[in-house]
Amino acid sequence: MTAVPALSSLPQDPNIQALNILKTVFGYDAFRAPQGEIVQHVGGGGNALVLMPTGGGKSLCYQIPALLRPGVGVVVSPLIALMKDQVDALRENGVRAEYLNSSLSGQDAREVERRLERGDLDLLYVAPERLLQPYMLDLLERSPISLFAIDEAHCVSQWGHDFRPEYQGLGVLARRFPGIPRMALTATADDRTQADILSVLHLGGARQFLSSFDRPNITYRVAHKLGPKQQLLDFISAEHGAGRPGGDAGIVYCLSRKSVEETARWLVAQGVAAVPYHAGLSVRERDDAQTRFIREEGLIVVATVAFGMGIDKPNVRFVAHLDLPKSLEGYYQETGRAGRDGLPSTAWMVYGLADVVNMRRMLAQSAAPEAVRRAESGKLDALLAYCESAQCRRQMLLAYFGEEYPQACGNCDTCLNPPDSWDATRAAQMALSAAIRTGNRFGAGHLIDVLHGNETDRIRNLGHHTLPTFGVGKETSDRQWRGVLRQLAALGYLTTDAEGHGSLIATPQARALLKGEQTLHLRSELDPPSREEKQERR
Ligand code: ADP
Ligand code: ZN
Repeated sequence: MTAVPALSSLPQDPNIQALNILKTVFGYDAFRAPQGEIVQHVGGGGNALVLMPTGGGKSLCYQIPALLRPGVGVVVSPLIALMKDQVDALRENGVRAEYLNSSLSGQDAREVERRLERGDLDLLYVAPERLLQPYMLDLLERSPISLFAIDEAHCVSQWGHDFRPEYQGLGVLARRFPGIPRMALTATADDRTQADILSVLHLGGARQFLSSFDRPNITYRVAHKLGPKQQLLDFISAEHGAGRPGGDAGIVYCLSRKSVEETARWLVAQGVAAVPYHAGLSVRERDDAQTRFIREEGLIVVATVAFGMGIDKPNVRFVAHLDLPKSLEGYYQETGRAGRDGLPSTAWMVYGLADVVNMRRMLAQSAAPEAVRRAESGKLDALLAYCESAQCRRQMLLAYFGEEYPQACGNCDTCLNPPDSWDATRAAQMALSAAIRTGNRFGAGHLIDVLHGNETDRIRNLGHHTLPTFGVGKETSDRQWRGVLRQLAALGYLTTDAEGHGSLIATPQARALLKGEQTLHLRSELDPPSREEKQERR
C-alpha cells in the first residue's frame, strides 16, 4: 500500500495537485523558487535541463512530476550508495521506490523488474551501465514510464571533473523513448558542459532552468599557508567551538591520503573530535565515518575529495581546504556542502607557493591530450586568480559560472578586510632575473638566498654570490619574497619543472615585465595578527 493519495481523489488543476503532493508526501509548505515551474513543465510532458546549486532541491523536481504522471519515473544516478539513501527516504514518505544496481541479488532484481513492467512503482533508480543493457532497454519499452531523470548530468562531459563514459550512451533514450519527457539535472555546468549535456542527451529543444549559484550564507576566505594545521586549529577553535561541547560539524579537505591521516590524528591529539576519510580505507571504515558524521553533532571529517558527494547533512558549518582543490568547479562543489540549512557558514582555505608549484607540476606531467591539458591549465589559472584576488571572491566565483553579481558581496574576506596592494614591478623584476640568472633551476629557498645576499656554502659553490642580482632584495622580508614568488607563479610569470625538483622557471610572459613594458601590482603579504590584535578585533 502507498500513502500517496490516488490521483483521482485530488483536484484536477495540476498546480494544486503538485502542491498537495509537496505537502502530503514530502511535508513541505511551498516550492522553492524554480521548483514549482519545473514540476509544472515536466509534469505536463516537457523536457528540461535543470541547473541548480547543491542543496537547491533538485530531487523534488523529478520526484513530484513522477508522482503526478502515470507510470514509473526512471532516475539515472551514478552513485550506488546514494540510491539506497534516496529510496529509503522516499519509502518513509510512502512512495513506492526501488533501485536496480549491482548490490541487489538476482532474485531481488527480478522482482523489481516485474514491478516495473506492471507499473507497480512510482520511482526506480538505476545506474547508467545497467540502464543501457539491451535487455533493460527492452524491458523499459514494455513498461509504463512517466519520465526519465538523468541526475549528475555533468558526468556526460569530458570537460567536467566527473566524466563517466557510460553517461555518453544515455543519448539513446531520445531515440528509443521519443514520447517520454526527459530531464537532465546538475549542480555544476559551465557553458561548455551545458552544451555537452544538451547535445549528448539530445535535449536541444528542452527548456532550461538555470538558478543562481550564489550561496549567500557562505563566507569565502582564503589565507596564506604558514603552518596549516595550527592555522586550521586556530580557525575552528576560535570560530567553530572545536574541542568544546557543542562545537560545529565541518569537513577538512586535504590532497593526499597521508595528509588526511596525519591531520585527523593531530586534531584528535589536540582534543578535537575528528575522523579520517579516504578511498584507501575499508568500506566499513568509510561507512562508519559517514554515518557518524551524519548522526553525531560536532564531528569533523578530514577527507580527500572522495568524501562528500551525496552527503545530505544540512548543518555543516564549515568546509576547510588545507590544499588547493582541483578547479573552481571542485571548490564550489566542496564548499557547497557547508550551510545547506541556510545559516551562516564558512568556506576557509589556506594555500602557499608549494601548492602552486605542485599543481603546475602535475599539469606538466599530465599525459592527457593537448586540448584537455590546455583546458586544465586554464582551469588552474582561474583557480589561482581566485586565490590571489583582491576583488570580491563571490563576484569572481559566480563570474566563473557565467553569472553576474551586481555589487561586492560584503561577505567574503576581500570585502570584509580589503587587502592592500603595492607596485611590485621592481620586486618582480628582481625575482624573475634571479630565476633566469641562476639558470631556471632553483626553488624558492635558494632564490630568496640570492635576493637576500646570503653567502651560504651552496651559493659560493655555485658562484651565485657574483651575480648582479645577489643581495639586491635585502630590504624585503622572507615572507614577502615568498609572497612575490607565489603570486608570480599563480599569475603565470613563473612555472615549474615536470620532474618535481620545485625549480621556478621564468615563462615567456615574464619578458614584458623584465623589459619594463608592463607594471605589476600585487597583494601585500600581511603578517598574521598577533594574539593581542586578534583579541582586540573580537
Ligand atoms: P540537491 O539534489 O539539489 O543537492 P536536494 O534535493 O537533496 O538538493 O534537497 C536539499 C535539501 O533541501 C533536502 O534536505 C530537501 O529535503 C530540502 N528541500 C528541497 N525542496 C524543499 C522545499 N520546497 N521546502 C523545504 N525543503 C526543501
Ligand atoms: Zn565579497
